[in-house]
Amino acid sequence: MANLSLKHIYKVYPNGTKAVNDFNMEIADREFIVFVGPSGCGKSTMLRMIAGLEDISAGELSIGDTVVNDVEPKDRDIAMVFQNYALYPHMTVYENIAFGLRVRKLPKEEIHSRVVHAAEILGIKDYLDKKPKEMSGGQRQRVSLGRAIVRDPKVMLLDEPLSNLDAKLRTQMRAEILKLHTQLKTTFIYVTHDQVEAMTMGTRIVVMKGGFVQQIDTPRNLYRYPANKFVAGFIGTPQMNFFDATLTQAGDKAELSFAGGEAVLQLPMEYLRKVRPRYLCGGAVCAGIRAEDISLAPNVVAASPYKVKMQISHVEDLGDESLVYGTVGEARIIVKTTLSHEYRAGDVCEAAFNVKKMHFFDAETEETIAPRLPEVNELACSAHEGKLTLAGAEIALPPALQGAEGEGTLLLPTDAVGFGGDIPAVATDCEQVGEKYLIGLELGGARLFAVSARRIEAGAVKLAIDFKRVTLTVGEFRAEPLPDSIRLAGTFVKKKERRNASGEPSRKKMINFYLDLAGASFPAPENITRKLLSTLSPRAVFSAQFLFEFTPYALTFGEAGIAGEVLSVVDYGAEQFALVRVGEETVPVLCERPISGMVCLVPVLEQAGVCEAKSGIKLL
Ligand code: ADP
Repeated sequence: MANLSLKHIYKVYPNGTKAVNDFNMEIADREFIVFVGPSGCGKSTMLRMIAGLEDISAGELSIGDTVVNDVEPKDRDIAMVFQNYALYPHMTVYENIAFGLRVRKLPKEEIHSRVVHAAEILGIKDYLDKKPKEMSGGQRQRVSLGRAIVRDPKVMLLDEPLSNLDAKLRTQMRAEILKLHTQLKTTFIYVTHDQVEAMTMGTRIVVMKGGFVQQIDTPRNLYRYPANKFVAGFIGTPQMNFFDATLTQAGDKAELSFAGGEAVLQLPMEYLRKVRPRYLCGGAVCAGIRAEDISLAPNVVAASPYKVKMQISHVEDLGDESLVYGTVGEARIIVKTTLSHEYRAGDVCEAAFNVKKMHFFDAETEETIAPRLPEVNELACSAHEGKLTLAGAEIALPPALQGAEGEGTLLLPTDAVGFGGDIPAVATDCEQVGEKYLIGLELGGARLFAVSARRIEAGAVKLAIDFKRVTLTVGEFRAEPLPDSIRLAGTFVKKKERRNASGEPSRKKMINFYLDLAGASFPAPENITRKLLSTLSPRAVFSAQFLFEFTPYALTFGEAGIAGEVLSVVDYGAEQFALVRVGEETVPVLCERPISGMVCLVPVLEQAGVCEAKSGIKLL
């Protein structure tokens, strides 16, 4: 039994292939995690790094509370099952299962009882005296599962274990592996390229593409809320229908026009509340709808206000249901239906769209344009004499944003809207999304969202806005958010000195480590020293350039340090920040009293993020 923590994991093969990039995940004890994606997406590499069969290029992997990056595979308390069974052909089933335990010199009776127990669980007790060649593929895979089970591992890793089996056996073995997971009460990590296998087995699924994690979620959430077009198309059969379209808002409706045709749907804005407003002005989007969310049934079509004409091109009869293929304008559409006999190639019929279940993606980036947790509210506003007006509601602006006069837009991040301030509003709804809550709000006549860590009941609330996070554009006036972090370049340096790093003299010569950062030198904190020395080779670590990342709260003013000049102080009311020029960078620093002129900055290095400048790999 164990939880796993994967932090900023990268794999770069010696030939330069970046197989895994910045993989982050917390896996709870007893989860059944599936890594899925097309061939070459990096899923096996990730599994093999967990197993210890591949070195981790950067990042930190913990099993339980132990960092295992440098722990030998045999000491990681994991067991691995492979696609090709990897059985010894000259040994009996019993000997194959017992082999690992014999190597570990367990007592004979213990080995015997473990082997028999595993064989019972897997239903292969009668085959213990047979050789692998006398067994079927499914039976051989059971033996290799048995070999993993007897080790009583903390984590079971399975790499495409069912790919060599025929379809029927695969379905049966899938159920058996799930049963095994329940019985063994351990964490399972399972690699497959088959989305059906992933959807039916995983408690959570990691969808990967080209070495990057696309989305991590439960099967149901991946299906309902795909984060991008790739995930939307990868999960579900037949593949989700995608078509080019435009969205144009007019009042409380938005017109969805199919590319290359007359077809138009009038969608209520209520269903598009999460769509970023800039996509509602007639630009190209990619629309998506699943085959089962379109209906050709006459009674559904008659009752639906959301229908278009579809020309049927052909019909695939699957027995209990059919797939009707057709076109709407330029769009090719597949509809799943149970009323097959009524549709023939060449017919033109009406198709009703369940528009609540439609998905929309950016035509270029292919990311969803209606995320489950919208990141930003885009609101029309006006500003006058230090006051901001949002659809009738008046809000006092902090000194940093005064000077704005006229009509414009406010970009307000959803997590920059807090509760417990002095701006009266009404909470209209609350949706739980993972561990967070999305709160629908009415502020004057404006509708906006807030993301909160706790549930907010519907009713009157008082809001607080974090103005350092907003973008306000009014006439000529434009205020950008304060950067939440900045990066300074530096190197890691070793010195032999007759003193320790804190400056106390010592009789013997000591090796001290420093960070040379923007022209100043600081003793390297223990966490950074340990990380750099353990991740990079001795030759690379002292020649590499690093970027150290600081929040405005991780820099202080001191007597000596990084030299800079205060350009201005921005006042957000509750907090003030000095904007300090350091070389080419403008660095925001929290300041508690008025400050100007030349200053020295002292970073809180323990809190710094660190990345290797050349590769961009994040180390801390
Ligand atoms: P998957 O399991 O998703 O099919 P892999 O993890 O096996 O993908 O591979 C990810 C990428 O890394 C691929 O581009 C593959 O060619 C490359 N790769 C895998 N193993 C090695 C290796 N030993 N040396 C170099 N490149 C490799």
